[in-house]
Amino acid sequence: MARKNANGAAAELDAVVVGAGLAGLTAARELRRAGRSVQVLEARDRVGGRLLNEPIGDGKVVEVGGQWLGPTQYRMAALARSVGVDTFPTHTHGDTLAEFGGRLINFRGSIPPLSPHILLDFGRAQRKLEAMARQVPLEAPWEAPHAREWDSQTFSSWVEHVTFTDGARRIFEVFVEGVWSAQGEDLSLLHVLTYVHSAGGVDALIDTGGGAQQDRFVGGSQRVAERLAEDLGDVVTLGAPVRRIEHGLDHVVVESDGASVRAARVIVAIPPTLTGRIVYDPPLPGRRDQLTQRMPQGTVIKCMALYEKPFWRERGLSGEATSDVGPVKVAYDNSPPDGRPGVLLGFLEGRVGRELGRATEAERRAAVVECFTRFFGPDAAEPYRYIERSWAEEEWTRGCYGCYFGPGGWTSYGSALRQPIGPIHWAGSETATVWLGYMDGAVQSGERAAREVLTSRPSAAASGSPPAAARPRRGARAAPPRGPATAGR
Ligand SMILES: Cc1cc2nc3c(=O)[nH]c(=O)nc-3n(C[C@H](O)[C@H](O)[C@H](O)COP(=O)(O)OP(=O)(O)OC[C@H]3O[C@@H](n4cnc5c(N)ncnc54)[C@H](O)[C@@H]3O)c2cc1C
Repeated sequence: MARKNANGAAAELDAVVVGAGLAGLTAARELRRAGRSVQVLEARDRVGGRLLNEPIGDGKVVEVGGQWLGPTQYRMAALARSVGVDTFPTHTHGDTLAEFGGRLINFRGSIPPLSPHILLDFGRAQRKLEAMARQVPLEAPWEAPHAREWDSQTFSSWVEHVTFTDGARRIFEVFVEGVWSAQGEDLSLLHVLTYVHSAGGVDALIDTGGGAQQDRFVGGSQRVAERLAEDLGDVVTLGAPVRRIEHGLDHVVVESDGASVRAARVIVAIPPTLTGRIVYDPPLPGRRDQLTQRMPQGTVIKCMALYEKPFWRERGLSGEATSDVGPVKVAYDNSPPDGRPGVLLGFLEGRVGRELGRATEAERRAAVVECFTRFFGPDAAEPYRYIERSWAEEEWTRGCYGCYFGPGGWTSYGSALRQPIGPIHWAGSETATVWLGYMDGAVQSGERAAREVLTSRPSAAASGSPPAAARPRRGARAAPPRGPATAGR
């Protein structure tokens, strides 16, 4: 039986969306544009999910979640433009640093001057990887010509097999940790191939200029989600974690701590692992549930040190560094557009993130600042502020950057990832076919899930009648109204 909402009756809508990350908000916007009634139920007391701005004074922010935009991430770029959020280039002027094999090397461009043997070995393996990746059909990776063979091995075992130098293997290790915040032994080779294809190549994933780290959002990436939510108004209910979804042939009843909503369809726009923590009545088919048991999140702690000014720029350094020592293995200049304050960003990813996740914040701060000092000199030793976010600790995310498949996952369960179950549809960055795992992928997934709802047979909700929004229950809050800063777009 449907629970009653505060109005005394379960609300009847065309669709409910679970989760107010980019995927859920995009889906809701598309449904609204098509004239459908929709309610978004969000567990947290804010929108944006894996996007989160942290104020640093003077109205400026840094992002402790996703932040960069790459040149071929067209959907995210268009979405940001549509809500009036501008971008600016990541600071890259000056020398980049590579700490490799115990040496700190300054260089320009994207290829560090390592031994030719290592570069040749890595380059050859990269080309092989990309050639294999192009053979993976993005809509159905399990149908790739060598899907079973590729899905039956880890990325590490493949790297071990195709490379000859320890140096090339160490570059691949930094690559895997930087892109998936996991280790090569965690990931199916087929997953890596799918991901690489969905991004357009290895360089597209790792490069700053010309790659996924090229641009940043003025005012922070979360602003995109906030503006989407402002446009949606009271369609978004915060503080409403969804606990249970009752579903029939032509209806769902979605129950959260904050509201109970009856609708024709539901779009569940949360990481696949978390979809398995909702109770479904009747229970989902075993295959779909087993999928949720096989898509763990990576482990990342995003750390930033703040300084009065970006002192490294005066020394001709870009602020970008790569290290095979760590614990910070990739670092960037993450200062606001005007360069005040100076912000160094470092990631603790994969194994390092798991280990340092058990340390205290003071210990992590010391470890991160020690790395920055090794890279950029003694001025890095005394930041006036340290900021970090450990995504594994976040109840409504439980890891980052996203969920991945280990060996056997894609070929056994991949086709259940997007497959609707009756009136239940799935969205979220992990379900994307382009820029899988990125903001752009989240937007694509929201658009696709909305299309599925719009092209499914006519909804059971009273079409033509005004939207009957669910009344918030105790503890639930509507998203704040759109403020003057966003007016006039
Ligand atoms: C540290 C970090 C760095 C990253 N860097 C980048 C980057 O530079 N560029 C890039 O493109 N991407 C980056 N990403 C990835 C990017 O942030 C995500 O791919 C994208 O934001 C995912 O959006 P989503 O809507 O699919 O999921 P989410 O953002 O996870 O949204 C899901 C929403 O559902 C809510 N929710 C969960 N469970 C429930 C429930 N039971 N009931 C109701 N609500 C629920 C959550 O609170 C959340 O708001 C990064 C991520 C992290 C964490």
